[in-house]
This record gives sequence, C-alpha cells and structure tokens, in this order.
Amino acid sequence: MTGCDAVAGQTVRVHSFESMGTYDGPGLRLVVFVQGCNFRCAYCANPDTMACTGGEDVAIDEIVRLAVSEKPFFGRRGGVTFSGGEPTLQASALLPLFERLKAEGIHICLDTNGSVMNDAVRRLLALTDLVLLDVKEINDTRHRDLTGCSNAATLAFADWMEANGRDFWLRYVLVPGVTSMREDLHALCERFKGYRMLRRVEILPYHTLGRHKYDHLGMAYRLDGVRENTPEEIEEAASIFRSYFDCVRIN
Ligand code: SF4
Repeated sequence: MTGCDAVAGQTVRVHSFESMGTYDGPGLRLVVFVQGCNFRCAYCANPDTMACTGGEDVAIDEIVRLAVSEKPFFGRRGGVTFSGGEPTLQASALLPLFERLKAEGIHICLDTNGSVMNDAVRRLLALTDLVLLDVKEINDTRHRDLTGCSNAATLAFADWMEANGRDFWLRYVLVPGVTSMREDLHALCERFKGYRMLRRVEILPYHTLGRHKYDHLGMAYRLDGVRENTPEEIEEAASIFRSYFDCVRIN
C-alpha cells in the first residue's frame, strides 16, 4: 500500500467527477479524478489533486452506480476514465472497482504518468481497455526539472505495455520553451516509433486554465511568464510527430 491508497475493496479517494468528458479517451466518458499524485508537474492544471490528503473517500458501489447510470450515453466508444492525480497510486483500491465495471461491460481508460509498476498495477492493467500514458519529457534532466521525478519508470512502463500487448495512447503536453524543443520531440518520436501497441499520439497544447488554483492553494506557479502556443508552434510540433506516426491528434 502507498500513502495514497484508500481502504482497499471499499472506497477510492476521489477529487471530483466529470460527466460527458470528451478529452480523456475515446467517445463520451465519465472521468474520475482521483486524489493524490507523486509528480509535481510545473504545468499541472489540477494542483488540488496532488496532495494525498485531499478529496474524499467514495464507495465503489457509488462509482459503479454513477457509471451504470451514464452507460446509455457512452455509446460504442465511450466509458469511464480514471485520471487525477495518479490513479496507479490507488491500484489496490481500484481493483475491485475495475472488476465491477468490466462485469457491467464498461470500457475503462487509465490516464497515468506511468511511474508506478507493481503487482496491483499489473492486475489493474489487465482490466484496463486503454492506457493514456502521459510522457512529460524525453530528456531526463528536463523531466526532473518539470516533474520532480525521473522519466525512467514511465519509459519502462511503456516497454511493459508494448511487451504485454496492451493498447496505449501517448499524450504530450506541449509547453513553449519547456517541452517544445525540436531535438526532444525527435528523440521522443525515435524512442516510440517502433511500438506496435501505440494507437495514438495526442498533443495537448499548454494552457493556463488551472493557474488561479495555485494562488488559492498558496503554491508557487513556476511557469509564470510562459505563454500559450501559437497555432504555428502547435502545427510545427504536429508535423514532427506526423513524420513518425500516422495517428497524431491535437487535443
Ligand atoms: S502527473 Fe498529472 S496530476 Fe500529477 S502533477 Fe503531473 S499533471 Fe498533475
């Protein structure tokens, strides 16, 4: 168990829910933002999900009931996405919930920074239909500056997905002057270009919608002064990704 694990089998520590989400996985989705993260990304739009102590314990019965009530809207492609925060920190608590959702025939996405791999996470991945793997930076020095952690575990996570035949999307937040360097984009693409299980590459243009939360939380915002991408910068990055992959989307 980690410090973020709720009482396994009974509850999950949740920050919030979003119904009819369209940004986190295919189709219309119920997004469950779990509480607690081990990264400290400078651009995090949900800094209020970082602390393991926030949020509330929600019974898995309640989450299943909510998902089943929204199932008619999911259609063929939609379902439930677990995001955060970092869901794998609560893998033990999420396992019985994932089993219940699969029994209901509900598609499950797991949005993760890929930094945690253990028996509970492997069992969780066996129940997950699609992983949204957030790779923050390929350059490990810049990754450490950006998140406070190495990217080694994330890259190993990707290798595990590939070796075990598990579908995943790669998501990349494009921040001007921070994660937008051409050499880094090429190095990232070179690292992933041979992956058979990589189904989509998503570019997430940097935005400052969560900026106000930092003041409210008394947290420093390290990207003050960094502007949003111009359309030309987004297109330039997309063209680099497209030169390696035929499944590039701008989210
Ligand atoms: S991994 Fe996600 S939730 Fe955690 S700090 Fe980074 S952006 Fe925020």
